[in-house]
Amino acid sequence: MDKPSAAIVGSGFGGLAAAIRLQAAGCQTVIFEKRDQPGGRAYVYRDNGFTFDAGPTVITAPHCLEELFAVAGKAMGDYVELLPVKPFYRLFWDDGYQFDYSDDDAALEKQIRAKSPGDWAGYQKFLKYSQEVFHEGYEKLVHVPFLTLSSMAAVAPQLIRLEAYRSVYSMVAKHVRDPQLRQLFSFHSLLVGGNPFTTTSIYTLIHCLERKWGVFFPKGGTGELVQALVRLFQQLGGEIRYNAEIDQIVTRDGAVAGVQASNCRLEEFDLVVSNADVVHTYDRLLRAEPRAAMTARRLGKKKFSMSLFLIYFGTKRKYPNLEHHNVIFGPRYRELLGDIFERGKLADDFSLYLHAPTRSDPSLAPPGCEAFYVLSPVPHLGKLAIDWQVEGPRYAAKILDYLEQRYMPGLKSSIVTQRIFTPADFKSELNAHHGSAFSLEPRLTQSAYFRVHNRDRNIRGLYFVGAGTHPGAGIPGVVNSGKATANLILEDFKAVLATSAVKTAEVSYA
Ligand SMILES: Cc1cc2nc3c(=O)[nH]c(=O)nc-3n(C[C@H](O)[C@H](O)[C@H](O)COP(=O)(O)OP(=O)(O)OC[C@H]3O[C@@H](n4cnc5c(N)ncnc54)[C@H](O)[C@@H]3O)c2cc1C
Repeated sequence: MDKPSAAIVGSGFGGLAAAIRLQAAGCQTVIFEKRDQPGGRAYVYRDNGFTFDAGPTVITAPHCLEELFAVAGKAMGDYVELLPVKPFYRLFWDDGYQFDYSDDDAALEKQIRAKSPGDWAGYQKFLKYSQEVFHEGYEKLVHVPFLTLSSMAAVAPQLIRLEAYRSVYSMVAKHVRDPQLRQLFSFHSLLVGGNPFTTTSIYTLIHCLERKWGVFFPKGGTGELVQALVRLFQQLGGEIRYNAEIDQIVTRDGAVAGVQASNCRLEEFDLVVSNADVVHTYDRLLRAEPRAAMTARRLGKKKFSMSLFLIYFGTKRKYPNLEHHNVIFGPRYRELLGDIFERGKLADDFSLYLHAPTRSDPSLAPPGCEAFYVLSPVPHLGKLAIDWQVEGPRYAAKILDYLEQRYMPGLKSSIVTQRIFTPADFKSELNAHHGSAFSLEPRLTQSAYFRVHNRDRNIRGLYFVGAGTHPGAGIPGVVNSGKATANLILEDFKAVLATSAVKTAEVSYA
């Protein structure tokens, strides 16, 4: 019997993770990628000798990446080097206060006691809570698909015990009193697209995850990690096609039949895994399948994460006052997040993440120069429908002015290359619904069973991987979604795999 054939729509981290596991286990797998490079949000721009990672830069939970190499009998270290980043972040506030955040307990204690002596004990309690959530939420459940309501009911007692109905901010505030320290320990949910004031407190596990394994950056940039995964997939015999946007997932009698690129004929596959945006998949790619229409309508009513406005820029001088990862808080926190997530307002102030990768790897810029990107969370297009072609350059100028005045003297005259990426680009380049940067918001009511399932319940052979499905956005999230989804597929196709020529027993996909 032939090996099962799998089409993966999209080459984000989730798509690559699922593809490697499927190919390693004996499925003949083809990735179709719309753009001219792999990685999805982890695209790479190369301008005038500078290398800019477009998206993810904070690499955590390296073991979930190592596992992808291990299922193929390889070692990640032979493909890519992960450099430890310390401090994890340097945080700056409007009033000049600064905090270097890492897993160094002595340094943390010193800084917390200096700021708010009573909060050291509170921080210990918060850390303990985040360790517990990490154990229950990450170690036990991150790679387990929630396909039935009973699977959700089974974890309800733990969720109640851990007060998962509270927000990240509320949980931090329960233990820590100082307003700036509250920001420091709650901003992490923004890294996966969640407002700390509405994201379930389960996401405080990111704090524990960073402390347990550290924060890393691939030598040569995140793009090198993507290339390593592509190389591994191809060595296993997988095929990846670029500039290959899928126009339709074709179904027949309630099951997937294959995929069709624009102006191309149907290519038949036994199963299709969509790594594309979930609304784009149900609403656009499955437009001819009546079973998809209700899900598309239901998804349309869900809450989507914010979008981002990004400026990638290279300077002909260095800024040693910055660390690799810099978080710059503006004068407002809760109110600014309300403007972004609820009111759909482009505020005059902003909170920024400033990426300075040349702190860890000078090879990303010409000698004497530095590469940066700065991102500002902004409302998605469903909340704020402005013309970003007009607003973008104005907004970029405002951000660069602010950086120059407060953190990067002489910035504008030292910029030698610059490009922007707006919510409109998230929509047109990545097919992201409302130009959202992280898909569905990570609220409790949109998590686990209440997120898009890793396997569609109505269309046989249709699976999902990536930020919109369980467990959610962020590299550890989508890579683990690859594990959840691949394991489901391998279970569904185990009879075929057992009779095909492949010795799947040799491959471990636990
Ligand atoms: C600016 C930014 C910074 C971030 N920083 C971090 C960070 O530091 N650490 C972290 O862990 N996470 C970070 N994240 C989140 C993380 O990058 C994402 O959650 C994750 O990479 C998404 O992966 P994915 O598998 O969902 O696929 P995506 O990256 O969303 O890729 C989907 C792919 O599908 C393709 N596609 C879409 N439609 C079609 C179609 N019809 N046919 C063919 N292909 C199609 C797209 O071109 C794209 O390549 C960041 C995100 C952004 C935007």
